[in-house]
Amino acid sequence: MTQRHDVVIVGGGLVGASLAIALDRQGIDVGLVEAAPATAMPPVFDQRNLSFAAATVNALTALGVMQKLRAAAGPIQRIHISRQGDFGRVRLEAADYGRDSFGQVVVARDFGEALEARLGELPHVTRYRPARFIALEEGAADIRRLRLAGDDGERSLEARLLVAADGTRSQLREALGIGAREHDYGQTLFVARVRAEQAPDGTAYERFTATGPTALLPRGDRHFGAIHGVPTEAAAAVAALDEAAWLARLQAAFGWRIGRFLASGERSAYPISRVVAERLIAPRAVLMGNAAQTIHPIGAQGFNLGLRDALTLAELLGQGGDPGADGVLRAYADRRGEDRGRTLAFSDGLARLTANPAPLLRPLRSVGLAAVDVSSTLQAYLVGGAMGFRGDVPALCREVAA
Ligand SMILES: Cc1cc2nc3c(=O)[nH]c(=O)nc-3n(C[C@H](O)[C@H](O)[C@H](O)COP(=O)(O)OP(=O)(O)OC[C@H]3O[C@@H](n4cnc5c(N)ncnc54)[C@H](O)[C@@H]3O)c2cc1C
Repeated sequence: MTQRHDVVIVGGGLVGASLAIALDRQGIDVGLVEAAPATAMPPVFDQRNLSFAAATVNALTALGVMQKLRAAAGPIQRIHISRQGDFGRVRLEAADYGRDSFGQVVVARDFGEALEARLGELPHVTRYRPARFIALEEGAADIRRLRLAGDDGERSLEARLLVAADGTRSQLREALGIGAREHDYGQTLFVARVRAEQAPDGTAYERFTATGPTALLPRGDRHFGAIHGVPTEAAAAVAALDEAAWLARLQAAFGWRIGRFLASGERSAYPISRVVAERLIAPRAVLMGNAAQTIHPIGAQGFNLGLRDALTLAELLGQGGDPGADGVLRAYADRRGEDRGRTLAFSDGLARLTANPAPLLRPLRSVGLAAVDVSSTLQAYLVGGAMGFRGDVPALCREVAA
Protein backbone atom coordinates (compact mmCIF):
# COMPACT_ATOMS: atom_id res chain seq x y z
CA MET A 1 0.00 0.00 0.00
CA THR A 2 1.22 3.51 -0.79
CA GLN A 3 2.29 5.37 2.34
CA ARG A 4 0.60 8.75 2.86
CA HIS A 5 1.77 11.70 5.01
CA ASP A 6 0.40 15.16 5.76
CA VAL A 7 3.68 16.63 4.53
CA VAL A 8 6.45 15.01 2.49
CA ILE A 9 9.76 16.89 2.45
CA VAL A 10 12.13 16.05 -0.41
CA GLY A 11 15.68 16.75 0.80
CA GLY A 12 17.01 16.13 4.31
CA GLY A 13 19.77 18.76 4.15
CA LEU A 14 20.05 21.80 6.42
CA VAL A 15 16.61 23.22 5.67
CA GLY A 16 14.60 20.01 5.08
CA ALA A 17 15.81 18.44 8.34
CA SER A 18 15.09 21.67 10.26
CA LEU A 19 11.58 21.81 8.81
CA ALA A 20 10.90 18.19 9.80
CA ILE A 21 11.86 19.04 13.39
CA ALA A 22 9.67 22.16 13.43
CA LEU A 23 6.67 20.25 12.02
CA ASP A 24 7.06 17.36 14.43
CA ARG A 25 6.78 19.92 17.25
CA GLN A 26 3.30 20.73 15.93
CA GLY A 27 2.33 17.05 15.85
CA ILE A 28 2.23 17.00 12.04
CA ASP A 29 2.88 13.67 10.32
CA VAL A 30 5.98 14.04 8.10
CA GLY A 31 7.81 11.89 5.54
CA LEU A 32 11.44 13.01 5.08
CA VAL A 33 13.03 11.84 1.82
CA GLU A 34 16.82 12.00 1.48
CA ALA A 35 19.06 10.69 -1.30
CA ALA A 36 21.99 9.95 1.05
CA PRO A 37 21.90 6.60 2.91
CA ALA A 38 21.39 6.31 6.67
CA THR A 39 25.03 5.27 7.07
CA ALA A 40 26.43 8.49 5.55
CA MET A 41 25.69 12.14 6.21
CA PRO A 42 24.35 14.07 3.15
CA PRO A 43 27.42 15.62 1.45
CA VAL A 44 26.28 19.17 2.28
CA PHE A 45 27.25 18.54 5.92
CA ASP A 46 30.92 19.09 5.17
CA GLN A 47 33.68 21.26 6.64
CA ARG A 48 32.08 24.57 5.63
CA ASN A 49 31.70 27.05 8.47
CA LEU A 50 28.16 28.27 8.94
CA SER A 51 27.53 31.58 10.55
CA PHE A 52 24.17 31.34 12.31
CA ALA A 53 22.37 34.65 12.86
CA ALA A 54 21.04 35.33 16.38
CA ALA A 55 17.50 34.65 15.09
CA THR A 56 18.66 31.24 13.83
CA VAL A 57 20.35 30.39 17.14
CA ASN A 58 17.14 31.28 19.00
CA ALA A 59 15.01 29.09 16.76
CA LEU A 60 17.40 26.12 16.71
CA THR A 61 17.57 26.29 20.51
CA ALA A 62 13.78 26.29 20.76
CA LEU A 63 13.78 23.25 18.43
CA GLY A 64 16.26 21.42 20.68
CA VAL A 65 19.04 21.28 18.04
CA MET A 66 21.71 23.64 19.46
CA GLN A 67 21.73 21.54 22.65
CA LYS A 68 22.82 18.52 20.57
CA LEU A 69 26.02 20.16 19.27
CA ARG A 70 28.96 18.21 20.58
CA ALA A 71 31.58 20.83 19.66
CA ALA A 72 31.39 24.37 20.99
CA ALA A 73 30.05 27.02 18.62
CA GLY A 74 32.06 30.24 18.24
CA PRO A 75 30.20 33.41 19.25
CA ILE A 76 30.45 36.42 16.89
CA GLN A 77 30.79 39.39 19.24
CA ARG A 78 31.91 41.87 16.63
CA ILE A 79 32.11 42.17 12.85
CA HIS A 80 35.05 43.86 11.20
CA ILE A 81 34.76 44.84 7.53
CA SER A 82 37.66 46.28 5.59
CA ARG A 83 38.95 46.80 2.05
CA GLN A 84 42.47 46.15 0.88
CA GLY A 85 44.08 49.48 -0.04
CA ASP A 86 41.50 51.59 1.80
CA PHE A 87 41.83 53.14 5.22
CA GLY A 88 38.14 52.88 5.93
CA ARG A 89 36.76 50.04 7.95
CA VAL A 90 33.53 49.16 9.72
CA ARG A 91 33.42 47.69 13.19
CA LEU A 92 30.10 46.55 14.54
CA GLU A 93 29.93 45.56 18.23
CA ALA A 94 27.12 43.28 19.44
CA ALA A 95 27.34 44.96 22.86
CA ASP A 96 26.32 48.28 21.22
CA TYR A 97 23.08 46.57 20.28
CA GLY A 98 22.52 45.15 23.76
CA ARG A 99 23.57 41.61 22.77
CA ASP A 100 26.29 39.16 23.73
CA SER A 101 26.74 38.15 20.10
CA PHE A 102 25.41 38.68 16.59
CA GLY A 103 25.33 34.93 16.09
CA GLN A 104 27.41 31.75 16.30
CA VAL A 105 29.82 29.92 13.99
CA VAL A 106 29.06 26.21 13.62
CA VAL A 107 30.81 23.67 11.39
CA ALA A 108 28.29 22.15 8.94
CA ARG A 109 29.40 18.61 9.80
CA ASP A 110 28.76 19.20 13.54
CA PHE A 111 25.39 20.73 12.69
CA GLY A 112 24.49 17.66 10.60
CA GLU A 113 25.26 15.40 13.56
CA ALA A 114 23.14 17.57 15.87
CA LEU A 115 20.20 17.51 13.44
CA GLU A 116 20.53 13.75 13.10
CA ALA A 117 20.54 13.29 16.89
CA ARG A 118 17.40 15.43 17.20
CA LEU A 119 15.62 13.74 14.28
CA GLY A 120 16.20 10.39 15.96
CA GLU A 121 14.03 11.48 18.90
CA LEU A 122 10.96 12.52 16.92
CA PRO A 123 7.71 10.52 16.95
CA HIS A 124 6.01 12.03 13.89
CA VAL A 125 8.81 11.86 11.30
CA THR A 126 9.26 8.83 8.98
CA ARG A 127 12.63 8.72 7.20
CA TYR A 128 13.06 7.46 3.64
CA ARG A 129 16.76 7.03 2.82
CA PRO A 130 18.45 6.38 0.57
CA ALA A 131 15.50 7.53 -1.50
CA ARG A 132 15.82 9.84 -4.46
CA PHE A 133 12.83 11.73 -5.81
CA ILE A 134 12.54 10.88 -9.50
CA ALA A 135 9.07 11.93 -10.71
CA LEU A 136 5.61 13.20 -9.88
CA GLU A 137 2.74 10.82 -10.60
CA GLU A 138 -0.95 11.31 -11.24
CA GLY A 139 -2.95 11.29 -8.01
CA ALA A 140 -6.32 12.32 -6.62
CA ALA A 141 -7.11 16.06 -6.53
CA ASP A 142 -6.41 16.43 -2.80
CA ILE A 143 -3.00 14.74 -2.77
CA ARG A 144 0.38 14.74 -4.48
CA ARG A 145 1.95 11.43 -5.47
CA LEU A 146 5.67 11.09 -5.98
CA ARG A 147 7.99 8.35 -7.15
CA LEU A 148 11.18 7.52 -5.28
CA ALA A 149 14.15 5.32 -6.18
CA GLY A 150 16.14 3.60 -3.43
CA ASP A 151 18.54 0.69 -3.00
CA ASP A 152 15.63 -1.75 -2.93
CA GLY A 153 13.91 -0.41 -6.08
CA GLU A 154 11.21 2.17 -6.61
CA ARG A 155 8.20 3.13 -4.50
CA SER A 156 5.49 5.79 -4.37
CA LEU A 157 4.49 8.14 -1.55
CA GLU A 158 1.49 10.41 -1.13
CA ALA A 159 1.29 13.80 0.57
CA ARG A 160 -1.24 16.52 1.19
CA LEU A 161 1.63 18.98 0.89
CA LEU A 162 4.94 18.46 -0.87
CA VAL A 163 8.02 20.49 0.10
CA ALA A 164 10.97 20.90 -2.26
CA ALA A 165 14.05 21.21 -0.03
CA ASP A 166 16.30 19.32 -2.44
CA GLY A 167 18.85 22.04 -3.00
CA THR A 168 20.12 24.21 -5.84
CA ARG A 169 19.54 21.68 -8.65
CA SER A 170 16.10 20.73 -7.29
CA GLN A 171 14.55 17.97 -9.38
CA LEU A 172 11.24 18.49 -7.64
CA ARG A 173 11.24 22.19 -8.65
CA GLU A 174 11.74 21.10 -12.24
CA ALA A 175 9.03 18.41 -12.04
CA LEU A 176 6.63 21.05 -10.70
CA GLY A 177 7.32 23.11 -13.82
CA ILE A 178 8.89 26.02 -11.91
CA GLY A 179 11.73 27.71 -13.78
CA ALA A 180 14.81 29.28 -12.18
CA ARG A 181 16.99 32.23 -13.17
CA GLU A 182 20.70 31.59 -12.88
CA HIS A 183 23.74 33.85 -12.69
CA ASP A 184 27.32 32.61 -12.52
CA TYR A 185 29.42 34.97 -10.39
CA GLY A 186 32.60 33.64 -12.01
CA GLN A 187 33.96 33.18 -8.52
CA THR A 188 35.11 30.11 -6.58
CA LEU A 189 35.24 30.11 -2.79
CA PHE A 190 37.87 28.12 -0.94
CA VAL A 191 37.04 27.09 2.61
CA ALA A 192 39.51 25.78 5.19
CA ARG A 193 40.12 25.65 8.92
CA VAL A 194 43.21 27.74 9.74
CA ARG A 195 45.27 28.52 12.80
CA ALA A 196 46.92 31.91 13.30
CA GLU A 197 49.29 33.40 15.88
CA GLN A 198 46.29 34.97 17.58
CA ALA A 199 43.34 32.84 18.66
CA PRO A 200 39.81 33.98 17.79
CA ASP A 201 38.51 36.68 20.16
CA GLY A 202 34.92 36.75 18.92
CA THR A 203 35.68 38.93 15.86
CA ALA A 204 34.40 37.89 12.42
CA TYR A 205 36.49 39.54 9.72
CA GLU A 206 35.28 40.27 6.21
CA ARG A 207 37.90 41.73 3.89
CA PHE A 208 37.37 42.74 0.29
CA THR A 209 40.12 42.72 -2.30
CA ALA A 210 40.01 43.46 -6.01
CA THR A 211 39.86 39.71 -6.78
CA GLY A 212 37.27 38.62 -4.23
CA PRO A 213 36.32 38.50 -0.56
CA THR A 214 38.25 36.86 2.26
CA ALA A 215 36.52 36.14 5.56
CA LEU A 216 37.84 34.75 8.84
CA LEU A 217 35.16 33.42 11.16
CA PRO A 218 35.82 32.71 14.86
CA ARG A 219 35.21 28.97 15.35
CA GLY A 220 34.70 27.46 18.77
CA ASP A 221 37.87 25.33 18.54
CA ARG A 222 40.55 28.10 18.65
CA HIS A 223 40.76 27.99 14.84
CA PHE A 224 39.37 30.36 12.23
CA GLY A 225 37.06 29.32 9.43
CA ALA A 226 38.72 30.88 6.38
CA ILE A 227 36.76 31.66 3.22
CA HIS A 228 38.74 32.97 0.27
CA GLY A 229 37.16 33.94 -3.04
CA VAL A 230 39.11 33.80 -6.31
CA PRO A 231 38.09 34.29 -9.96
CA THR A 232 37.06 30.83 -11.23
CA GLU A 233 39.78 30.85 -13.90
CA ALA A 234 42.35 30.98 -11.06
CA ALA A 235 40.70 28.22 -9.00
CA ALA A 236 42.70 25.26 -10.37
CA ALA A 237 45.98 27.02 -9.61
CA VAL A 238 44.87 27.90 -6.06
CA ALA A 239 43.70 24.33 -5.45
CA ALA A 240 47.15 23.09 -6.48
CA LEU A 241 49.07 25.30 -4.01
CA ASP A 242 50.88 23.53 -1.19
CA GLU A 243 50.03 24.53 2.38
CA ALA A 244 52.77 27.16 2.70
CA ALA A 245 51.87 28.84 -0.60
CA TRP A 246 48.15 28.74 0.26
CA LEU A 247 48.80 30.35 3.65
CA ALA A 248 50.97 33.01 2.00
CA ARG A 249 48.17 33.78 -0.43
CA LEU A 250 45.65 34.05 2.39
CA GLN A 251 48.03 36.31 4.34
CA ALA A 252 48.47 38.61 1.34
CA ALA A 253 44.70 38.91 0.90
CA PHE A 254 43.85 39.28 4.59
CA GLY A 255 46.82 41.11 6.09
CA TRP A 256 48.30 40.77 9.57
CA ARG A 257 45.40 41.66 11.91
CA ILE A 258 45.55 38.26 13.62
CA GLY A 259 49.29 37.69 13.14
CA ARG A 260 50.91 35.05 10.94
CA PHE A 261 48.83 32.17 9.59
CA LEU A 262 50.44 28.99 10.92
CA ALA A 263 48.55 25.97 9.61
CA SER A 264 45.63 25.03 7.39
CA GLY A 265 43.35 22.03 7.17
CA GLU A 266 42.12 20.62 3.88
CA ARG A 267 40.69 23.11 1.36
CA SER A 268 37.28 22.64 -0.29
CA ALA A 269 36.26 24.66 -3.35
CA TYR A 270 32.76 25.92 -4.21
CA PRO A 271 32.01 27.55 -7.59
CA ILE A 272 29.39 30.20 -6.85
CA SER A 273 26.15 30.82 -8.74
CA ARG A 274 22.88 32.45 -7.83
CA VAL A 275 19.81 30.36 -8.69
CA VAL A 276 16.43 31.92 -8.00
CA ALA A 277 13.13 30.10 -8.55
CA GLU A 278 10.50 32.06 -10.46
CA ARG A 279 7.76 31.05 -8.01
CA LEU A 280 7.65 29.62 -4.49
CA ILE A 281 4.45 27.61 -4.86
CA ALA A 282 2.59 25.18 -7.13
CA PRO A 283 -0.62 23.28 -6.36
CA ARG A 284 -0.03 21.39 -3.07
CA ALA A 285 3.68 22.19 -3.19
CA VAL A 286 6.13 24.78 -1.85
CA LEU A 287 9.81 25.48 -2.44
CA MET A 288 12.26 26.45 0.26
CA GLY A 289 15.95 26.84 1.06
CA ASN A 290 18.38 26.46 -1.83
CA ALA A 291 15.64 24.99 -4.03
CA ALA A 292 13.85 28.35 -3.75
CA GLN A 293 16.93 30.58 -3.78
CA THR A 294 20.62 29.83 -3.78
CA ILE A 295 22.54 32.98 -2.95
CA HIS A 296 26.19 34.03 -2.72
CA PRO A 297 27.61 32.86 0.63
CA ILE A 298 29.39 36.19 1.16
CA GLY A 299 26.75 37.63 3.46
CA ALA A 300 26.36 34.27 5.31
CA GLN A 301 22.63 34.39 4.71
CA GLY A 302 21.67 31.22 2.78
CA PHE A 303 20.74 28.82 5.55
CA ASN A 304 19.53 31.61 7.81
CA LEU A 305 17.08 32.62 5.09
CA GLY A 306 16.10 29.00 4.32
CA LEU A 307 15.41 28.33 7.99
CA ARG A 308 13.05 31.31 8.04
CA ASP A 309 11.27 29.76 5.01
CA ALA A 310 10.86 26.54 7.01
CA LEU A 311 9.72 28.24 10.22
CA THR A 312 7.18 30.37 8.37
CA LEU A 313 5.63 27.28 6.79
CA ALA A 314 5.62 25.47 10.15
CA GLU A 315 3.86 28.46 11.72
CA LEU A 316 1.18 28.44 9.02
CA LEU A 317 0.64 24.68 9.27
CA GLY A 318 0.43 24.95 13.05
CA GLN A 319 -2.90 26.73 12.57
CA GLY A 320 -4.45 23.39 11.53
CA GLY A 321 -6.58 22.55 8.49
CA ASP A 322 -5.49 21.14 5.13
CA PRO A 323 -1.71 21.72 4.86
CA GLY A 324 -1.91 21.91 1.06
CA ALA A 325 -4.84 24.34 0.86
CA ASP A 326 -4.45 27.22 -1.60
CA GLY A 327 -4.80 29.78 1.20
CA VAL A 328 -1.84 28.26 3.08
CA LEU A 329 0.32 28.28 -0.04
CA ARG A 330 -0.55 31.88 -0.87
CA ALA A 331 0.11 32.99 2.72
CA TYR A 332 3.51 31.27 2.57
CA ALA A 333 4.48 33.02 -0.67
CA ASP A 334 3.26 36.38 0.66
CA ARG A 335 5.01 36.12 3.99
CA ARG A 336 8.33 35.11 2.42
CA GLY A 337 8.31 37.90 -0.16
CA GLU A 338 9.94 40.76 1.73
CA ASP A 339 12.66 38.83 3.60
CA ARG A 340 13.53 36.90 0.44
CA GLY A 341 13.69 40.01 -1.76
CA ARG A 342 15.76 42.03 0.69
CA THR A 343 18.17 39.21 1.53
CA LEU A 344 18.71 38.44 -2.16
CA ALA A 345 19.38 42.10 -2.89
CA PHE A 346 21.74 42.37 0.08
CA SER A 347 23.83 39.28 -0.77
CA ASP A 348 23.85 40.00 -4.48
CA GLY A 349 24.82 43.64 -3.97
CA LEU A 350 27.68 42.65 -1.68
CA ALA A 351 28.82 39.95 -4.12
CA ARG A 352 28.80 42.19 -7.18
CA LEU A 353 30.46 45.01 -5.33
CA THR A 354 33.33 42.80 -4.30
CA ALA A 355 33.64 40.76 -7.48
CA ASN A 356 33.91 43.75 -9.83
CA PRO A 357 36.85 45.86 -8.87
CA ALA A 358 36.71 48.71 -11.29
CA PRO A 359 33.63 50.85 -11.86
CA LEU A 360 31.32 49.68 -9.12
CA LEU A 361 33.83 50.03 -6.37
CA ARG A 362 34.95 53.52 -7.25
CA PRO A 363 32.18 55.31 -5.37
CA LEU A 364 32.69 53.08 -2.34
CA ARG A 365 36.41 53.76 -2.51
CA SER A 366 36.03 57.47 -2.83
CA VAL A 367 33.82 57.82 0.22
CA GLY A 368 35.76 55.06 1.94
CA LEU A 369 34.24 52.34 4.06
CA ALA A 370 34.58 54.84 6.91
CA ALA A 371 31.41 56.42 5.58
CA VAL A 372 29.55 53.33 6.67
CA ASP A 373 30.77 53.95 10.19
CA VAL A 374 28.77 57.15 10.33
CA SER A 375 25.74 55.96 8.41
CA SER A 376 23.48 54.60 11.10
CA THR A 377 20.93 53.49 8.50
CA LEU A 378 23.46 51.34 6.69
CA GLN A 379 24.78 50.00 9.98
CA ALA A 380 21.31 49.10 11.18
CA TYR A 381 20.77 47.35 7.84
CA LEU A 382 23.99 45.32 8.15
CA VAL A 383 23.18 44.40 11.74
CA GLY A 384 19.58 43.48 10.91
CA GLY A 385 20.91 41.08 8.27
CA ALA A 386 23.66 39.70 10.49
CA MET A 387 21.21 38.91 13.26
CA GLY A 388 18.43 37.68 10.99
CA PHE A 389 15.69 39.98 12.25
CA ARG A 390 14.59 41.31 8.89
CA GLY A 391 11.02 41.66 7.69
CA ASP A 392 8.30 39.31 8.91
CA VAL A 393 10.31 37.19 11.37
CA PRO A 394 8.89 33.80 12.47
CA ALA A 395 8.02 33.72 16.18
CA LEU A 396 10.54 30.97 17.04
CA CYS A 397 13.38 33.29 15.94
CA ARG A 398 12.37 35.77 18.62
CA GLU A 399 12.36 33.24 21.46
CA VAL A 400 15.23 34.06 23.75
CA ALA A 401 17.72 31.21 23.86
CA ALA A 402 17.62 29.42 27.23
C1 LIG B 1 31.09 27.82 1.19
C2 LIG B 1 29.72 28.07 1.73
C3 LIG B 1 29.56 28.73 2.94
C4 LIG B 1 28.28 28.99 3.44
N1 LIG B 1 28.16 29.67 4.61
C5 LIG B 1 26.93 29.96 5.08
C6 LIG B 1 26.78 30.69 6.31
O1 LIG B 1 27.75 31.09 6.94
N2 LIG B 1 25.52 30.95 6.76
C7 LIG B 1 24.43 30.54 6.08
O2 LIG B 1 23.30 30.81 6.53
N3 LIG B 1 24.53 29.84 4.92
C8 LIG B 1 25.75 29.55 4.42
N4 LIG B 1 25.86 28.84 3.25
C9 LIG B 1 24.64 28.41 2.54
C10 LIG B 1 24.08 27.09 3.06
O3 LIG B 1 25.04 26.06 2.93
C11 LIG B 1 22.82 26.75 2.25
O4 LIG B 1 21.93 27.83 2.37
C12 LIG B 1 22.14 25.48 2.76
O5 LIG B 1 22.96 24.37 2.55
C13 LIG B 1 20.79 25.27 2.06
O6 LIG B 1 20.16 24.16 2.64
P1 LIG B 1 19.10 23.28 1.83
O7 LIG B 1 18.63 22.26 2.81
O8 LIG B 1 18.13 24.17 1.17
O9 LIG B 1 19.92 22.59 0.67
P2 LIG B 1 21.09 21.53 0.83
O10 LIG B 1 21.79 21.79 2.09
O11 LIG B 1 21.84 21.54 -0.45
O12 LIG B 1 20.33 20.13 0.98
C14 LIG B 1 19.64 19.52 -0.06
C15 LIG B 1 19.46 18.06 0.32
O13 LIG B 1 18.62 17.43 -0.65
C16 LIG B 1 19.12 16.16 -0.98
N5 LIG B 1 18.65 15.84 -2.33
C17 LIG B 1 19.01 16.45 -3.50
N6 LIG B 1 18.31 15.92 -4.52
C18 LIG B 1 17.49 14.98 -4.00
C19 LIG B 1 16.51 14.10 -4.56
N7 LIG B 1 16.24 14.10 -5.88
N8 LIG B 1 15.86 13.26 -3.75
C20 LIG B 1 16.11 13.26 -2.40
N9 LIG B 1 17.02 14.09 -1.82
C21 LIG B 1 17.70 14.93 -2.61
C22 LIG B 1 20.64 16.33 -0.86
O14 LIG B 1 21.28 15.08 -0.65
C23 LIG B 1 20.75 17.25 0.34
O15 LIG B 1 20.83 16.56 1.56
C24 LIG B 1 27.13 28.57 2.71
C25 LIG B 1 27.29 27.89 1.50
C26 LIG B 1 28.56 27.65 1.01
C27 LIG B 1 28.71 26.94 -0.31
